[in-house]
Amino acid sequence: MQESVVKPKPFSVLGLPVHLLDNYGDWLRSRLHQGIGTHVVTLNAEMTMLCERHNTLAGVIHQADLVIPDGAGIVLYLRLQGKKIRRCPGIELAELLLQSRQLGASWSVFFYGGAQGVAETAAEFWQQRVPGLKLAGTQHGYPCPAEAEKLRQTLTQLQPQLILVGLGAPRQELWIAQHRVLCPQATWIGVGGSFDIWAGEKSRAPAWLADNHLEWLYRLYQEPWRWRRMLALPKFARKALAHRLTELEALVLRPED
Ligand code: UDP
Repeated sequence: MQESVVKPKPFSVLGLPVHLLDNYGDWLRSRLHQGIGTHVVTLNAEMTMLCERHNTLAGVIHQADLVIPDGAGIVLYLRLQGKKIRRCPGIELAELLLQSRQLGASWSVFFYGGAQGVAETAAEFWQQRVPGLKLAGTQHGYPCPAEAEKLRQTLTQLQPQLILVGLGAPRQELWIAQHRVLCPQATWIGVGGSFDIWAGEKSRAPAWLADNHLEWLYRLYQEPWRWRRMLALPKFARKALAHRLTELEALVLRPED
């Protein structure tokens, strides 16, 4: 197997794996090209804290083929460990893949998630932007049992190569882990609220906020109901600092190591 498609060695972020690659897009395109089934998790501080009480989610993240540093907290944690890394937002990785030449030629894409009509509008947006994009289909994220069964049948029949799932965390990660067997050669990415952005329902934070690790503040402004979930962020920061201090303490006490 080519080295570029082998699962990379992970770094630990409070016990969860994160894979650091120079070019996630090339790695994924290589897997897509060879039909190697791939689950991509876009990790942030909220998910990391959720894993403390959600063993199933933690197990799914450990099993995933690629875990990318999506959140500013994860990036700052790894920088504290001396890693020179940049944030890789899941929405940007998905956009990169949607613009791949092969999506017009041999690969097809499926959008699953969002309120009624959102995935369709997002798909129309991409079809206008990338003429010739092969769309296998769309499904909103609140299916009744009959629609959920139809979705399973459609995926099994059409075998799309790229399946974007925007159900929010942890729903999308658990759903992908349960359903990836239906399309064993596909790349599955949990894309959170990306369909809302592509459909024009919501907007991303201005670049200057994102560049200063403050995208979360913009989301809080857009969706104030998130405040309770966001209490996980200071908790993550405290744990990250405590972990780093313990490591430094160990270095000082055992300098010969
Ligand atoms: N959503 C969905 N089905 C559900 C719950 C949520 O399709 O049962 C969608 C929701 O419409 C929104 C997305 O999931 O488009 C969640 O976006 P968010 O930005 O909150 O993702 P997170 O930050 O949780 O990853």
